[in-house]
Amino acid sequence: MNKPVDAAGDPIVARVVHKSAIVEVAGAAPVFKLMLNLTPGDRVFEAGSDVGFLPPGARLGQARHILRQYTVESVGRVPFEETIDITIYVREAAPEDSTSVGRVLCDSRQGDTIELFGPFPYPFYPPMGSRSNMVMIGAGCGMVPFRWLAHKVHGRRLDWMGKVLMLEGAETGLEHLYINDPTGDRDQFFDQVTYRAFEALKTRYSAIALDREESTVANMDALWRLMGQGSVYVYLAGYRNVADSLDRAMSDHLRLADRWLDAKKALVRDGHWLEYLYD
Ligand SMILES: Cc1cc2nc3c(=O)[nH]c(=O)nc-3n(C[C@H](O)[C@H](O)[C@H](O)COP(=O)(O)OP(=O)(O)OC[C@H]3O[C@@H](n4cnc5c(N)ncnc54)[C@H](O)[C@@H]3O)c2cc1C
Repeated sequence: MNKPVDAAGDPIVARVVHKSAIVEVAGAAPVFKLMLNLTPGDRVFEAGSDVGFLPPGARLGQARHILRQYTVESVGRVPFEETIDITIYVREAAPEDSTSVGRVLCDSRQGDTIELFGPFPYPFYPPMGSRSNMVMIGAGCGMVPFRWLAHKVHGRRLDWMGKVLMLEGAETGLEHLYINDPTGDRDQFFDQVTYRAFEALKTRYSAIALDREESTVANMDALWRLMGQGSVYVYLAGYRNVADSLDRAMSDHLRLADRWLDAKKALVRDGHWLEYLYD
């Protein structure tokens, strides 16, 4: 699913034309709206496509996939110019993350320039119909990569009939059951539209882990159970080393490495395992 790094193309220099906080929730990092002006040439930027940024000090080719991805919120053509304005939403990184892309973007000011790669197609597509089960796993990056996926499902205006399991965590991606809770999950709050989109998925949520005390083991059980129930799509995004830990943790949990890897292979073969990993 990952784009090879040499497919990233040349960077485009974008200029920050507007920056404002769109979400400020007490106790959580704010989310900024950034409008970037750029000359697209023959590249086609659309809402829902992704753009990538290199972490400070990194270079293309140093890892399999180093670009940090951000989903384009909207695109506007600038009248009488060959340029466009694209809007992205960025969660502020912790102050100590001086090498993070999130930090650089949130510290940028009007008039600053920044190199951007892409556009890239959004890596996830929803299941056909509304009866499949879905598992979303944020491996060290929270649920934000699935924001647009949730929007796509929500945009169909169907009641989701399948079960939806949302997990995230910094070690294996399985430590925390995400329930879009305004208190417990407020550090992941993005905007109202996203909140409603995740909420709509949650209404049919019926994985068992909710009514038990949360633990990684309970989440692993819920994941394995769901993977054995009819049509299921697994979406995985985040850091490659966290995804590798997930494989190890599930193999250990099931006591047989092959059991996990074979189940995963079958989903990959059927186009039901979609992942986007970076280093
Ligand atoms: C398809 C897609 C779309 C996305 N869209 C958006 C969007 O619209 N807006 C948005 O804000 N984000 C979006 N993201 C998420 C964003 O790309 C990630 O949060 C990215 O990691 C930020 O990079 P960074 O350089 O700021 O963070 P980094 O500096 O890489 O890390 C930030 C924090 O993550 C943790 N971390 C770093 N490395 C690791 C590791 N190896 N293992 C575990 N934890 C680690 C650390 O706690 C660190 O402080 C999207 C991601 C994907 C895949």
